[in-house]
Amino acid sequence: MAYKFIDNYREKGARKRLVEILEKKGIEDKSVLEAIGKVPRHYFFDETFWNQAYKDIAFPIGEGQTISQPYTVAYQSQLLHIKKGDKVLEIGTGSGYQTCVLLELGANVYTIERQEKLYERTIQVLPYMGYKPQFFLGDGSRGIAEHAPYDKIIVTAGAPTVPDILLKQLNVGGLLVIPVGDEETQKMVTVLKVSETDYEKIVLDTFRFVPLVGDKAW
Ligand code: SAM
Repeated sequence: MAYKFIDNYREKGARKRLVEILEKKGIEDKSVLEAIGKVPRHYFFDETFWNQAYKDIAFPIGEGQTISQPYTVAYQSQLLHIKKGDKVLEIGTGSGYQTCVLLELGANVYTIERQEKLYERTIQVLPYMGYKPQFFLGDGSRGIAEHAPYDKIIVTAGAPTVPDILLKQLNVGGLLVIPVGDEETQKMVTVLKVSETDYEKIVLDTFRFVPLVGDKAW
């Protein structure tokens, strides 16, 4: 498959303006803004739609799924407080855009996608762009026990509840960021694992994600 990867002044300028928009919308973490400023989001779009790539909107990527809105990616990334070398499990690779942002933040990323066509695309495109997470195909609602524990877990699809199995796969001091709600809207929830048995849960803003489909989900 031939990819067209050109990142010239037009795309760089649009990316800079996107970062300014996200800052105005309340994203404060400079490292997150810097990471968004580095990842060429237009590479995840067909060239016909490059003019849409730096708008703060979600966009269809096939298989009934979307590349997340940049604000949502920045919001979840900011909540994760990534430190260099953090071991992060991402559930719902999708286009791989959020994966690249996490890698730019210095995370060691394990990412899982249930849809084979999206998985096949990301395993080709991301390494071609120079991004090298560990890719997995399967139901991420159960996490990936073989590689646990993780410092952080991010879920990029809406879940009906917080799956216990994901909390078990966190290190003590680790953090889960997950949208929880019904199929229409979800609240962003963070769960900090304070000890093996204690958790601190915070419920934040409302979002609209595609559903997390699987054994421990819808
Ligand atoms: N953040 C991604 C991006 O920027 O492209 C978008 C993710 S998209 C909103 C959510 C993804 O989660 C979809 O690709 C969907 O197929 C995937 N998904 C849903 N349920 C899943 C599950 N149980 N395990 C793994 N992936 C799942």
